[in-house]
Amino acid sequence: MKLLMFKHDGDARLGALRPGHEDEVVDLSQIAPDLLALIDAGEAGLERARKAASAAGHGLHLKDVTLLPPLAAPRGNIIAMGRNYQKHAEEGKEDGEVKPPTIFTKAITSITGPYDDIAIDPLVSDKIDWEVELGVVIGTRGANIARRDAMDHVFGYFVLNDISARDIQFDWGGQFFKGKSLDRSSPIGPWVMTRDEAPDQQNLDLRLLVNGVLKQEGNTRDMIHPVDDIIEWASKGMTLLPGVLIATGTPDGVGHYRKPPEYLHPGDLMETEVAGIGLLRNRIVAAKVGALADHAHRGA
Ligand code: MG
Repeated sequence: MKLLMFKHDGDARLGALRPGHEDEVVDLSQIAPDLLALIDAGEAGLERARKAASAAGHGLHLKDVTLLPPLAAPRGNIIAMGRNYQKHAEEGKEDGEVKPPTIFTKAITSITGPYDDIAIDPLVSDKIDWEVELGVVIGTRGANIARRDAMDHVFGYFVLNDISARDIQFDWGGQFFKGKSLDRSSPIGPWVMTRDEAPDQQNLDLRLLVNGVLKQEGNTRDMIHPVDDIIEWASKGMTLLPGVLIATGTPDGVGHYRKPPEYLHPGDLMETEVAGIGLLRNRIVAAKVGALADHAHRGA
């Protein structure tokens, strides 16, 4: 099942693509108010949602519906992997040294919708970059999860563009958290595909286009730490709660390591796809003059 959140009469509602008619959205707000509540309802909740989606005789046309982030406020920070694809680790090597994968977090306030514009204030960052990734939603709470049991803790999958402000990421001695946490910068969705219906998560093609030009192309089989390994490591002595999101890393082809480097500018359109899961489409727009600009004008 492809579960989503959509806007209806100004309210956010839980929905799903209608099974067998995926150009339609079925309203599941009678089952749960949002996706986090549905995840918390466990297998029984999911079964009710499946039955309701299958029983619906018709739905709203997907093209007439505004999709919201499937999980606008997941639990905890987003857990994310850096350098989890060998060729991406190599393109980012410093002084000839290829660093191993690392684990970091993104603030949940960085989340935005699957087709939303991304407003960036150039006074905050002028080095905005793209990263196509497979996202994982945790469904079942667990700590010290063994790799062989890890997939039982997965609720489903989504597409994520781990938008990165490279100037901020490498400032103050270098840190991922702030550079990857600008407000409403990172689209997720368009829906969460439940694990039972998802294809093999370690054999998915990923690609990202900017203005129709292919920038990233990879496959999840090339992850250095596959999803089960990430869950084992992330849960070591640290509980993973239902509704936690994991960003599993990006393949090579990001803008920062191109020669010369490339960054996003107002008007640029990104298409971010994990084949078999979904596609995000987001345009960069110039932010209205922000607080920093006001401050600068006062200081001048
Ligand atoms: Mg990333």
